[in-house]
Amino acid sequence: MSVARTYLDYNATSPLRPEARAAVVAALDSVGNASSTHAEGRAARALIEGARADVAKLVAARASAVVFTSGATEAANWVLRAAWRRLIVSAVEHPCILEPARASGAQVDIVPVGRDGLIDMGQLEHLLADETIAPAETLLAVQHANNETGVVQDVAAVAGLARGRGVRLLVDAVQSAGRLAIDFERLGADYLMLSSHKFGGPKGVGALVMRGDVRLPALLVGGGQERGHRAGTENVEAIAGFGAAARAALGELSRVHEIAALRDALEDELVRMTPQAEVIGRDAPRLANTSLVALRGRTAETLIIALDLNGVAASAGAACSSGKAKRSEVLDAMGLDADLAKGAVRFSFGWASRAEDVAATSGAWQRVMKMGERARAAA
Ligand code: PLP
Repeated sequence: MSVARTYLDYNATSPLRPEARAAVVAALDSVGNASSTHAEGRAARALIEGARADVAKLVAARASAVVFTSGATEAANWVLRAAWRRLIVSAVEHPCILEPARASGAQVDIVPVGRDGLIDMGQLEHLLADETIAPAETLLAVQHANNETGVVQDVAAVAGLARGRGVRLLVDAVQSAGRLAIDFERLGADYLMLSSHKFGGPKGVGALVMRGDVRLPALLVGGGQERGHRAGTENVEAIAGFGAAARAALGELSRVHEIAALRDALEDELVRMTPQAEVIGRDAPRLANTSLVALRGRTAETLIIALDLNGVAASAGAACSSGKAKRSEVLDAMGLDADLAKGAVRFSFGWASRAEDVAATSGAWQRVMKMGERARAAA
């Protein structure tokens, strides 16, 4: 007998939306190479340009600003590997920003965050005021929303500071796109990263959105695809699925309060059952879909396994590629003590989430807590 599953790990990856699946399947039958001028080639080109327009619309950018990549990690590496002499990055950035920054050889300054996960704007101003900064050779990277806590940064204020100092700004909008309205034109960022699979598109495709007046050396050279930025025959089916997911996600932005209601209902239930649980980032602006619940003295990995056995897919903060437990740099940066941080379980909702998911997860949580009590009593 198969057990009904509850999937609450959308920040790791979202199930494929039906619209995206249909677009991928249809594009698989597109025989042409988008660079060919015959009818088949033009049809493939039309799929790509249609998707580009849909992705651009999701973040209110011009279609010409969107360059398709294999995902946000590739987009981040592309920007960070340019010849920057100074990189200023927030302490809670995703590893796809932090690791290339550390490997770059540039001077790296880290902007700290408070206990609420919000970046210290005073410190950022202080770093930007440094007279040794050469603005043209300095990049600031700040995420819009955090993957572990859902905490949303005031990227418009950050962009204002970056503009004022003349430094370039890269915004990681991977977790916010499709969950918050984004206006790239008005935001004032120079570069913005997107990833299809976080909002219901296929994996392995994303984009770098870049202002028309900024330059980057080509990511890949060869046949000159993506207006010379990223050579190589385009992954038409993935791009078509990305576009369809972007269109669907934009259409559902107004559902955000429904998602917030599910998230709040789950938090209320968990805190009622385990009053010692702490909801991390609760007092800061947060994505409507994300809940990070920490239990002091417990180990998230054990809780995740127990929840999994009870039919619920959740996560111990960031999904780690090795599958091994690792201290969360994000929670460290927020100053959470290790005993609380190691018991942090993330639940993240998305387009297919329903009230039944809250009931199933609360039930699983109760069973897991009872099991833990019995195990402790027997020890
Ligand atoms: N940035 C954030 C905040 C993320 O959560 C992720 C994915 O985990 C990425 C970047 C990387 O995205 P991709 O999977 O497209 O490389």
